[in-house]
Amino acid sequence: MEPANATLLCAPLVAPTVEEMLLQMNKANVSGADLVEIRLDTLSNFMPHEDLKLLLGNRPLPAIVTYRPKWEGGQYEGDDHYRLDTLFMAMELGADYIDVELQVVNDFMSSITRKKPSKSKVIVSSHNYQITPSVEELGDLVARIQATGADIVKISTMAQNITDVARMFHVLVHCQVPIIGLLMGEKGAISRLLCPRFGGYLTYATLEGVIKSAPGQPKLKDMLSIYNIRQLGRDTKIYGLIGNPVGHSKAPILHNETFKSVGFNAIFVLLLVDDVREFLDVYSSPDFAGFSVTIPHKEEALRHCDELDPIAKSIGAINTIIRRPSDGKLVGYNTDCLGAISAIEHEMRGLFSLKGEAESPLAGRLFVVIGAGGAGKAFAYGAKEKGARIIIANRSYDRAKILAGLVGGQAMSLSDLENFRPEEESILANSTSVGMYPDIDGTPISKEALRRYAVVFDAVYTPKDTRLLREAEEVGAVVVSGVEMFLRQAFRQFELFTDSPKAPVQVMRKIVQERI
Ligand code: NAP
Repeated sequence: MEPANATLLCAPLVAPTVEEMLLQMNKANVSGADLVEIRLDTLSNFMPHEDLKLLLGNRPLPAIVTYRPKWEGGQYEGDDHYRLDTLFMAMELGADYIDVELQVVNDFMSSITRKKPSKSKVIVSSHNYQITPSVEELGDLVARIQATGADIVKISTMAQNITDVARMFHVLVHCQVPIIGLLMGEKGAISRLLCPRFGGYLTYATLEGVIKSAPGQPKLKDMLSIYNIRQLGRDTKIYGLIGNPVGHSKAPILHNETFKSVGFNAIFVLLLVDDVREFLDVYSSPDFAGFSVTIPHKEEALRHCDELDPIAKSIGAINTIIRRPSDGKLVGYNTDCLGAISAIEHEMRGLFSLKGEAESPLAGRLFVVIGAGGAGKAFAYGAKEKGARIIIANRSYDRAKILAGLVGGQAMSLSDLENFRPEEESILANSTSVGMYPDIDGTPISKEALRRYAVVFDAVYTPKDTRLLREAEEVGAVVVSGVEMFLRQAFRQFELFTDSPKAPVQVMRKIVQERI
């Protein structure tokens, strides 16, 4: 398929030996990179003429040669004249690009004006490892870099907040010259994924098994196979998961692959958000068409929606936001409730006696929810709607009491839950993050106390086999995995994102089975 953008995908080569770098170059080539960045400052015992000849002479892809000094965040500690002479030598040996720091570029440019090899392009770079300046300051910086005679402007700044990235997107969209504009750090990751959408000249991505050359750099294989960045264009809609943490989530795999399978022009990214209101205020353009919402923002996000679906309103928590195309208003929904309850009901049907086909297997049974956050509210509301009797057990007892009051149930502390003896055929649903990656040895209730439940459900789905579910199975309970809920809540989310009547259920199930 023809790419929808011209942004280049560059794999930085970071290695102590030339041999290793040559191997990495070939890996970059077969992995689908457009070019490589040779980081000379990471080589030990570097011998400029011999090593550059070997590296440039054997390159299967165009190459940027970078010799980053320590004072600009690299590893080179020696004399700057020697370093700049080496970069000039790289140009003479046919480097496609060299990267020179703004701070020394005037000296470099004045020494090469008459003899600059026409084939080589000069990237003039500026790095700020502390902050991302204002749009005005970034604009001034672009102008200063442009004035040096740079072929390509490169600005790399630190993201202290995901909202910092919006300023760089603004600069990318309005810049008249080729520009690389990226933010470092986990909170800047979307600058690297979405820069093709906003017209960036180039983005960097890490090869499998190679050290990242900058914090927050995504893997090359994820850029291509999960995020399909070649297909991002100016009209690609952006969706994402608002949460903190978000790194564990498999939602990008599922949503991006599903979008691709039905030809929907959209990307789904992870959005590490500290302050939901600030995030929604800053990313208020129609480019950002909708969001999933996860820990700890499900209740706070509800307060910043313009309208709420009636079920979300009753639950008091949302996990989906759609920006209504007709008026730009944010509408909040809750698909967790449907996802969890239908997953549990599905597993229980056929195993428990029912009065009639139409009756929910939850009707009349005791449903114990551990947790009283966004997911806990959805489970309690959903089970109550199906005729179950509800108990809420939570670490913060006051929150348990409030939720129990809302659904007409009973509140309990976690220690009371340990000694609680439920009636036969009771259901236990964990809605806390206990047991979630990376703390996979955690469990919200002892194995001994689990013996008393007929059905145990865990909202945690990373890992799939949580300690809670393993122990529940060992004591003979029917278990329901968070993966099934994840899938079922995503069906409805897909319908809302794409405004379509029916999600491609089989396709989505297959993606989860094969890739998650
Ligand atoms: P949330 O609103 O932040 O609520 C978190 C709940 O967990 C609160 O009740 C909190 O208790 C409790 N909790 C947190 N750490 C705890 C600990 N160490 N010990 C005991 N209780 C603890 O989060 P959420 O959005 O409801 O999400 C909760 C979990 O559900 C996450 O793991 C999320 O990934 C998962 N989830 C899965 C799916 C799916 O599709 N499978 C969908 C939604 C959510 P306090 O009130 O005392 O703070």
